[in-house]
Amino acid sequence: MTFDLLITNATVLDGTGQDPFQATVGIQNDIITLIDRQQENQYEAARTIDATGLTLTPGFIDAHAHGEPLAEPEFHNFLAMGVTTICLGQDGFSPDQEDVRGWMDEVDAVKPGVNIILFAGHNTLRMLSGAKYDPVPSEAHYLKMEELLADAMQAGCFGLTTGLEYNPGYYAGSAELNRLAKAVGKHKGMLMSHMRSESDDAIAAAIDELLEQGNYCPVQVSHIKVVYGKGRQRGEEILEQLRRARARGIQVTADFYPYTASYTSIEILFPEWAKKPFDYAEVVRTRGEELREFLKEKILFRNGPEATQIGSGPFKGKKLSQIAEALHKPFELVLLEDIGPYGAFGAYFIMDEELQETLLLDPYTMICTDGSPTMNHPRSFGAFARVLETFVKQRQLLPLQEAVRKMTGLTAETIGLADRGFVKEGYKADLLLFDQQEIKATATYEEARQLATGFRYIILNGQLVKEQDQISPGRSGSMLRKAYAPSA
Ligand SMILES: [Zn+2]
Repeated sequence: MTFDLLITNATVLDGTGQDPFQATVGIQNDIITLIDRQQENQYEAARTIDATGLTLTPGFIDAHAHGEPLAEPEFHNFLAMGVTTICLGQDGFSPDQEDVRGWMDEVDAVKPGVNIILFAGHNTLRMLSGAKYDPVPSEAHYLKMEELLADAMQAGCFGLTTGLEYNPGYYAGSAELNRLAKAVGKHKGMLMSHMRSESDDAIAAAIDELLEQGNYCPVQVSHIKVVYGKGRQRGEEILEQLRRARARGIQVTADFYPYTASYTSIEILFPEWAKKPFDYAEVVRTRGEELREFLKEKILFRNGPEATQIGSGPFKGKKLSQIAEALHKPFELVLLEDIGPYGAFGAYFIMDEELQETLLLDPYTMICTDGSPTMNHPRSFGAFARVLETFVKQRQLLPLQEAVRKMTGLTAETIGLADRGFVKEGYKADLLLFDQQEIKATATYEEARQLATGFRYIILNGQLVKEQDQISPGRSGSMLRKAYAPSA
């Protein structure tokens, strides 16, 4: 038997969370065809890597990511932190076109730098169906949304996402979400949700709303966090709410990024009545004072202008307090006059470390970046490396095999990705080789766009795409389609 690639003397963490074992791993084409724990056997191979001292794991799977594979197919920021597969279509937004198959074929044609998984986005379906900003869709709109969803699932999407803090998802009530969850269940998909609220005072109700959808299909809390909440106890309360749901048969999981600042459009600070479809200039003219008061209270509630750091546009890298000082005006007027609801993205330091750690350690929590190749937040370049560096190595809160499970097997099983996420014979050869001591997340809030370092070898679909510090210019990712198998 001759292998294309043979990895000898590897310490394997297979993605299940089990203890490591020593093995020789052989790859033919894009498949793992040998895992031999008897190390004395000799094999022929076109290339052999001696992995003495290195850990071999499945390639990491990012449960919640952003990016435009057709515009920027490289995804080096993901590869450099060990991510070989990313889940797109998040927060309710998928490619803005009815022809999902066509989009998938185009992605294959450009050959992305990582594997791409797609979810259909509820906000996008709402726009395409014509329901748009209507609080209650008509029956015709419902039927159209269901048709679009069915088509997306048949094309190979893994489920539906919602983004209920964004327009027009904001307008959808529970009846609509339950009806769509039923359709997701029928197509054997899952539903991931950027919930209606992540604020301490409203998150329990938001989770209950999602759990109701969990009666019809598996559900996932996207980028789980409690904004303004504090302490381990509060984290435990949230986890307890999820555990109780599990005890009554609901499949619920969560994804998580290891930073205490969120990052999103500055529109999150503005009231509904100042955002699309309303005309912002008109709102400023007629309700300017009210808007100014709203923004001031909102920022003060969100830990003040020092806790908001602008991440794009002309004020990139500056805190709202610094911009206010430079422009000699109150911070709320900077938002109202100089930035506006669509003028920038921002990082918001609104989370508590102890609380977030509690959420991370739960066995049903998997890792995501919620990042993209262009997003100016360290999570885009560092999330997976930071979990290994900070939570496994430095603070020893997570055993390495458990961290790896949260980045691989747990995610694959949860989303229904059949042939990846584990080091197993017959599985696709997405593999990482690294020394845990060497992994570093170098991205910071000030300098977000810095590649993580330390992964020695990265294998994607059987191809060596990273060797030492060199990411190969040829891309080896592909569009991953879920086999369509609806409920009877
Ligand atoms: Zn989100």
